[in-house]
Amino acid sequence: MTNTQLVPIFDGHNDILLKLIEECADNAVEAFFQPRKGQHIDLLSAQKGGFAGGLFAMFIPPEDGRSFRKTPSQEFARDYTMNMITLLRDIAAASDGKVEICRSVGDIRKAMAAGIMAPVLHIEGAEAILPDLSNLEAFYNDGLRSIGPVWSRSNAFAHGVPFKFPASPDTGPGLTNEGMKLVKACNEMGIAVDLSHLNEKGFWDVARISTKPLIASHSNVHTLCPTTRNLTDGQLKAIKDSNGIAGLNFAVSFLRKDGAKDVNVPLSVLVEHVDYMVDIMGIDHVGIGSDYDGAPPPSDLDSTAKLPALTNALREAGYDDDALNKICHGNWLRVLEDTWGA
Ligand SMILES: [Zn+2]
Repeated sequence: MTNTQLVPIFDGHNDILLKLIEECADNAVEAFFQPRKGQHIDLLSAQKGGFAGGLFAMFIPPEDGRSFRKTPSQEFARDYTMNMITLLRDIAAASDGKVEICRSVGDIRKAMAAGIMAPVLHIEGAEAILPDLSNLEAFYNDGLRSIGPVWSRSNAFAHGVPFKFPASPDTGPGLTNEGMKLVKACNEMGIAVDLSHLNEKGFWDVARISTKPLIASHSNVHTLCPTTRNLTDGQLKAIKDSNGIAGLNFAVSFLRKDGAKDVNVPLSVLVEHVDYMVDIMGIDHVGIGSDYDGAPPPSDLDSTAKLPALTNALREAGYDDDALNKICHGNWLRVLEDTWGA
């Protein structure tokens, strides 16, 4: 008999808002509340599996509907982002108090203690932000608490890392001047800066100028799976030295040694990535960053309802309650509190 005790998971990255808008135009709010085929996050499954909340990404799909590498215009990105904020507010409003958008770690702790889902607004690729940052504060006031300056393409702020396997994440120039200013503004305002889609030069630019813990919300170990999206040992060490966090990504192509998009991946492979990160960084710097509803996870983990399979696998690998609580939510909450202020 496996241990079925639920460990609450605060997750560093998901794409449910994009999924709902792209696939459920007319009933996006309703689709959040019931399990649906091919959708990883819904309220019932989340409650069943212990998914307590996390950073809810606002990623801007291609403006022309086709070319992901083409940077969308600011107007398109702004409108799309506002639609996503509205959708999450509508979900919270329709949830009968079971979903509350959080703006502080105090909010998150309160929600988690009450069994209320705790989403936080995150921008993945800052195309919606004007290069002079004049609308950043308005987004902050709307609840934005985390920004990945760039997705895996280029924009006004940085050059994202293209998806390549096997390849080094050192793929080109790093932050632009606007990107440097964005990082400083986020530091001052109390907005997290997410490094997951930056190339290596961009990562080191942020490491040099940021005064806050380094965060790679959804990236794995490059040594175990040499995709450009994963972290080198040097990057993992820098994250540890900054008192930051790397979130375990469930995407099979960032887990498997062969980088294949094959969902037949035993949970032991996720445990290997966690073990490696803990070996390099220690237990205080590893979290979860599922990439749910943005990338295909292992078939054993293809719904938030199945999350206990992962915590059980970690438990069987020797992680005790204290370690599991850190990996599953404690480390994220500490890093966000350090970043946002108490
Ligand atoms: Zn991503």
